[in-house]
Amino acid sequence: MSFLDLEIGLSEEDLAIRDMAHKFAAEVLRPAGQALDRMQDPAEVIAPSSILWDVFKKYHALEFSTLITDDSVDPVKKARLMCLINEELAWGDVGLAITLGLCQFHVPWVRHTQDRDLIARFCNPDAPTIGCWALTEPDHGSDTLMLSEPHFSDPSVKPNCSAHKDGNSYVIRGQKAAWVSNGSIADIAVLFCTVDKSMGLKGGGIFVVPLDLPGVSRPRPLDKLGQRSLNQGEIFFDDVRVPEHYMVLGPNLYTIGLEMMLCHANAGMGQIFVGLARAAYDYALAYAKQRVQGGVPIFEHQNVRSRLFKMFTKVEAARALARRVALYNAGGAPKVQHCIASKVLCTNTAFEVASEAVQIFGGNGMSREYPIEKIFRDARASLIEDGCNEVLSIIGGSKL
Ligand SMILES: Cc1cc2nc3c(=O)[nH]c(=O)nc-3n(C[C@H](O)[C@H](O)[C@H](O)COP(=O)(O)OP(=O)(O)OC[C@H]3O[C@@H](n4cnc5c(N)ncnc54)[C@H](O)[C@@H]3O)c2cc1C
Repeated sequence: MSFLDLEIGLSEEDLAIRDMAHKFAAEVLRPAGQALDRMQDPAEVIAPSSILWDVFKKYHALEFSTLITDDSVDPVKKARLMCLINEELAWGDVGLAITLGLCQFHVPWVRHTQDRDLIARFCNPDAPTIGCWALTEPDHGSDTLMLSEPHFSDPSVKPNCSAHKDGNSYVIRGQKAAWVSNGSIADIAVLFCTVDKSMGLKGGGIFVVPLDLPGVSRPRPLDKLGQRSLNQGEIFFDDVRVPEHYMVLGPNLYTIGLEMMLCHANAGMGQIFVGLARAAYDYALAYAKQRVQGGVPIFEHQNVRSRLFKMFTKVEAARALARRVALYNAGGAPKVQHCIASKVLCTNTAFEVASEAVQIFGGNGMSREYPIEKIFRDARASLIEDGCNEVLSIIGGSKL
């Protein structure tokens, strides 16, 4: 394994879990991710015969697959382990790391409802379900995240998805954008939608919505440039009726809930994209040691070595921040600016290191016969997902 020998404070158990995650990433995720990436039609990725389901099965057989929702584990230990696991899984395939990471996104929200039937159905580790979070709308991407800006509480900004109270139920009507990760396959959504239109986007509520309810429809999954192993797709709600307690947070606490979600998602993305950056670096280093030009491996040329060293330095720096933020968050309320800093730094690092790796591969970096062009495409999406980096920087800046 590459340059992880600087680890401090890891127990034998931590190292064993990290190695298990690495083995799964190398033997299952990387080949599956490459196969899914090559599928022309995104519907093939989620077809019953797809290798994706084999990935899920093997993942759920691993002892760490329920760690994230296991409240009996010490939060600091859990944070440390999740950093190791997220990095390894994304080293294998970032699209699948996100797919698997989101699987249990709904669990804490469902537990919050205190609905025994819902909890039995969606929080049972022996019968795992697939979750997603649905916030982005066709007309509202960055808008939905920029809590600090005046448009957020402007009632003239009309949502694409809203819920209204009807007796003891809420009735949900509208659409979430094609960007919902796991949107095409999820069993349940954590839905962010407008409840009080007089408050603009600020008047939101956070719901749990089983996606087999009458009125939910999901057309074809999205076709896209990178992270093709991560299925995404829009979700339509045609007067979908849910009991009122399925709304876990209402407008009075919506901005706090949204900010916490943004913090946890951004901190997680930081850890994940360290893994992608390391994969790109690993490939570039290995290639530089075997590609001969001028009679020697290109690694022997000083300029190539110094470029590799820059990549190495960037990955180490990104990892240091991602872990520092994760460990801080384990101790209590996260700090928005630090979580965003981690996402922005780590995804920029992933993109820069992947781009430099393509350069080290020369012409072969462009070829689909080599793995690096896929990693480059996968890295590109990270500058947009979970908030465009420039928009996140405005949000982070508002906290300084
Ligand atoms: C791979 C991937 C996975 C995703 N997963 C999910 C998911 O699971 N669930 C979900 O709900 N969403 C998801 N998204 C959606 C993602 O959060 C949005 O794409 C993102 O918030 C940007 O919104 P947008 O695409 O509508 O772009 P827009 O908001 O239309 O932005 C377009 C451009 O304008 C700039 N811009 C916009 N507003 C401002 C401003 N006020 N100031 C300065 N610049 C601005 C942006 O930086 C960007 O360059 C995902 C996206 C991707 C690519």
